[in-house]
Amino acid sequence: MRYVIVGNGVAGVTAAQSIVRADPAAEVHIFGAEPYPYYQRPRLWEFLAGEIEQQTLYFRPLEWYAAQGIQVHLGTRVTALDPAEHRLTLADGGSTKFVVYDRLLLATGARPFVPPFAGADKDGVFTLRTLDDARAMRAYAGDVLSVVVIGCGLLGLETARALLSLGLDVSLIESAPHLLPRQLDAEGAQVLQARLEAMGLHFLTNAATEAILGNGRVTGVRLKDGRVVEGEMVLISTGIRSRIELAREAGLEVNRGLIVDEQLRTSAADVYAAGDVAEFEGVVYGIIPAAIEQAQVAAANMVADGSATYSGTVPATTLKIVGIDLTSLGEATATGDEFVVLRQMGPATGVYRRLALRDGKIVGAILLGDTQNVRPLKQLIATGRDVSAYSDRLLDENLDLKALAQGLS
Ligand SMILES: Cc1cc2nc3c(=O)[nH]c(=O)nc-3n(C[C@H](O)[C@H](O)[C@H](O)COP(=O)(O)OP(=O)(O)OC[C@H]3O[C@@H](n4cnc5c(N)ncnc54)[C@H](O)[C@@H]3O)c2cc1C
Repeated sequence: MRYVIVGNGVAGVTAAQSIVRADPAAEVHIFGAEPYPYYQRPRLWEFLAGEIEQQTLYFRPLEWYAAQGIQVHLGTRVTALDPAEHRLTLADGGSTKFVVYDRLLLATGARPFVPPFAGADKDGVFTLRTLDDARAMRAYAGDVLSVVVIGCGLLGLETARALLSLGLDVSLIESAPHLLPRQLDAEGAQVLQARLEAMGLHFLTNAATEAILGNGRVTGVRLKDGRVVEGEMVLISTGIRSRIELAREAGLEVNRGLIVDEQLRTSAADVYAAGDVAEFEGVVYGIIPAAIEQAQVAAANMVADGSATYSGTVPATTLKIVGIDLTSLGEATATGDEFVVLRQMGPATGVYRRLALRDGKIVGAILLGDTQNVRPLKQLIATGRDVSAYSDRLLDENLDLKALAQGLS
């Protein structure tokens, strides 16, 4: 049986590993457009900050693939898919080649989304997704003193911190009323912003970008209200879009992402999808835990169709900035009549906790400055345990959430 995987990211590599475990006689190929073996995207900002070398990023060096019996083809882009013929077209060093598959996994990931700002093509304007992006940013950052980061999501904040550590003056622009709009409510964002400002970052919220300024090289950003934020470099960090072109051109059913069912099957026979490219029940998760879970389920079904089911992933994100522990789980910012919201705020200590409950069950949590309760809360959200009997004490330090999550309370 020949299994072919398009994409050498975490979804592709996880699936390949699961397939060879389940079917040791399998012939497994991964085609990856990037020239590097699998590397850890979450560590790119450490590389950007000069804290680690490129080699350290390689979590799965080339020898690993060979040892697993996986054939990896780096620097090889798949340019077309013919699902009726079970055939892919490859662009390999200028020549065109074809490869046939029995089972195919599309794990093509995502690319940064760049809003249509005027001037986004100027020298010194970057997005960060790949190792090549990080290398280019690192080289450019060596010649400048200031940078503007557009977008205060997790990636924008983490990269801003890396650029600050290089000695740059860093301004951040957010169009929403507060930073991390997807992970934090206004109160939590206030606590976080104060801590980041104390580190030396400058923020402008409610600030919509209109144009990137400069004559050839970037000199700053003009906001819709006319204000100008100066900077010799710009990072645009305004979300991602699934890479669905290959699937769309092959006639597969797509929406925001490539649509998959509970077995991670696409609309074409023997074609599966996982990771940032996949859309399950209207959601493109865009996080590693979902990519891993989906890849494992897809792999199991590629080997034995119907053997595994995916039912979604509890969204869990962590801000990775030294000295700041922030995790958002599930429906972290949920508000409205159907929710009971519990909050605990300690501006002096920089600790903020927020729980959202629906029908007596915890459905979302924000934990700033508290790492202890991340795991039990994740478990409580995933299992949907009724905690209404404890609702007045859930944020009480003396309540053992671990025991509660394990059903011991
Ligand atoms: C800087 C950074 C930090 C992050 N930090 C975190 C974090 O802390 N926690 C977290 O959960 N998530 C994080 N993420 C998001 C996480 O990296 C993604 O969710 C994850 O990489 C998705 O994996 P994937 O395999 O689906 O896609 P990708 O990692 O995007 O891999 C897809 C691969 O497919 C290749 N490809 C695409 N099209 C083709 C083609 N036609 N032919 C051949 N190859 C192709 C691409 O070149 C790419 O290498 C971060 C992302 C970035 C950029």
